[in-house]
Amino acid sequence: DEDGSLTHVVGLVRDVPDYPAPGILFKDLTPVFADARAFTTVATELAACVGEADVVAGIEARGFLLGAAVALVAGVGVIPVRKAGKLPRVAGSRTYDLEYGTATLELPAETVSPGARVFVVDDVLATGGTAAATVALLAVAGAEVIGFGALLELTALSGRQALAPLPVHALLHA
Ligand code: AMP
Repeated sequence: DEDGSLTHVVGLVRDVPDYPAPGILFKDLTPVFADARAFTTVATELAACVGEADVVAGIEARGFLLGAAVALVAGVGVIPVRKAGKLPRVAGSRTYDLEYGTATLELPAETVSPGARVFVVDDVLATGGTAAATVALLAVAGAEVIGFGALLELTALSGRQALAPLPVHALLHA
C-alpha cells in the first residue's frame, strides 16, 4: 500500500458492538463507500482480481454497491443475487442454514449463459455461508464461478475454508 490508499480505507471502517445481536461485532463499511477515494480504491483493487470472468455477481445488499463498481472498473456486467421474493423472474434459488433459521437467495433469469465465468463479490466474508450458497446457485445454473472477492474478511470465522478450493480475495482482514 505504497500511497496509503488501503490505510485510508481502514480508517473508514467502523466497529459496531452488539449489532444486529448481542456478541456480534458488526463491521460498518458504509463510510468507505461514501468516500470517493476509498470507494475508488476498493473497486479498483478488487477489479484487479476479476481475472477472466465474464460477469460479476454481487450479493444483496452491500454486495450490490461493491459488485457494480468492481464490474464497471473491470469492464464486465453485473448480476444481483437477491434475497427471496424480490425478483420478477428467477433462474434458480438456494436455501441455506443460518445460525437461527434459514435464508434463500435467488438468481435473476437470463443473466448467466451456460459456461459463463463469474466472479462473486460481497462486502464482508464471515462464515462463508452466504457466499457458498451463491456459488452453488450459480453452479446449478451452469455458470463457472472462478473467484470470490470481499472488501473485508473476518479470518477467525473461516469463510475461506468454506469456499475452498475457490480462490478468495480480500482487501482487509480482521
Ligand atoms: P456469512 O457468515 O459469511 O454468510 O455472512 C453473511 C452476510 O452477513 C455477509 O453478506 C456479510 O455481508 C454480513 N456479515 C456477516 N458478519 C458481519 C459482520 N461482523 N459485520 C458486517 N457484516 C457482516
